[in-house]
Amino acid sequence: MNAFVHIRILREIQFMNKYQPIIGLEIHVELKTKSKMFCGCPCDWFGKPPNSNNCPVCLGLPGTLPVPNKKAVEWTIKIAKALNCKINTISKFDRKNYFYPDLPKAYQISQYDQPIAIKGSLKFKIQNSEFKVEEKEIAITRVHLEEDTGKLIHQGNESLVDFNRAGVPLVEIVTEPVFRISDDAKHFLEELQTILRYLDVADCDMEKGSMRVEPNVSLMKLETWNMKQEKLPNYKVEIKNINSFRYAKYAIDYEIKRQTEILETGETPVQETRGFNENKNVTFSQRTKEEAHDYRYFPEPDIPPMVFKESFLAKITVPELPGSKVERYMRDYGLKYQDAFILTRDKNIAEYFDVINSKLKSQKSKLQVKSQNLENSIATLIVNKKISTDLIPDKFIKQLSSLLSPKETDETQLKKTIDIILDQNQKAIGEYKKGKTNVIMFLVGSVMRELKGQADATVVRNKIEKEIKS
Ligand code: ZN
Ligand code: MN
Repeated sequence: MNAFVHIRILREIQFMNKYQPIIGLEIHVELKTKSKMFCGCPCDWFGKPPNSNNCPVCLGLPGTLPVPNKKAVEWTIKIAKALNCKINTISKFDRKNYFYPDLPKAYQISQYDQPIAIKGSLKFKIQNSEFKVEEKEIAITRVHLEEDTGKLIHQGNESLVDFNRAGVPLVEIVTEPVFRISDDAKHFLEELQTILRYLDVADCDMEKGSMRVEPNVSLMKLETWNMKQEKLPNYKVEIKNINSFRYAKYAIDYEIKRQTEILETGETPVQETRGFNENKNVTFSQRTKEEAHDYRYFPEPDIPPMVFKESFLAKITVPELPGSKVERYMRDYGLKYQDAFILTRDKNIAEYFDVINSKLKSQKSKLQVKSQNLENSIATLIVNKKISTDLIPDKFIKQLSSLLSPKETDETQLKKTIDIILDQNQKAIGEYKKGKTNVIMFLVGSVMRELKGQADATVVRNKIEKEIKS
């Protein structure tokens, strides 16, 4: 490496470490309840003719009264439980006032100081950019329930509004600003999406906007000589309504670069809300950020506070979640992280895998399957798509038997191969005779490789041992 290149790299490292990104996420998820949050209109608004999915309540007409959807409240509690949150036994709705054409009442019914849940955390395993398995724990600030807004459609000089979506139950999940790199934020979002689908409470269809992400990013200055934090940033940039995890990552990375450049000139980035341009992969200024008091929050006078009894909360249960399944498959079945991860991304496939394993357990003796680690073999077959999970379980097991049945060994070929391998490895045989019995695995491996795996390893081992001893 020449001196010039070396200095450039050193500078880059120094530059990179000078600022610590502080990243938090705010996620909005539409619940897939039958009816809207405060009225009886259906929730499946997507694709309907404009303003055909409304009633006086979700149009915010004077004199109407909102009635909370019990299912939506239960599902929000379910999500909160899955994220290990503390559920507030008394929770209330508040009005968040702002004027925007997609908001028919000029306020959104949301939750301010008594949300359904606070202080959670989500633990999960990821594979980092160096292919190492790492455990992450993300602190959750709050989970609350509100209503979705309508949609604006811009056509030339005109803007049209469609209220079909207005009033759909919307859960807001806020994390602590604990992310330091955009990759971790993306992993968290993917895990959260998988969990919400396991809970069967939301489609999380990014293209329909039923899951939307708002990252907030700022940079903390570090003292370069000892890497101690200098001071927390006194500004925050929020990027609005991103409908893809990849774009969320790009937006965060772009902000880190943009803010670094501003800080390098000695300025402080402006506290503001920015949008993301998907074509150019850049963020752009939308408006300077309003403070919470700009929304003039006050308790929703038409809905009494909710009081949750212990017995009510106890009935809301959470199934085994993808993270726990990954742990269990690795621990109980000896699966590699990568296989356990792939198997658990789709709840149906994971459940199918569980059904097959429990069926096999009860009929193992009858089955002509020979495998040292049956669960692992099944996982590998499913992950590599060598066998279909569309089959009914009994057919799957039949196919499995033929796929995993002991390989027919050509006896003469086997004998010949063993003779050759033993001939080539006199030293190993000597060590074996001296008591280093472990070398047998090396010999078995060599024979198996020579036969391209077309032999039963146990048979090979027995034959080699016999041969050496004779
Ligand atoms: Zn309605
Ligand atoms: Mn919100």
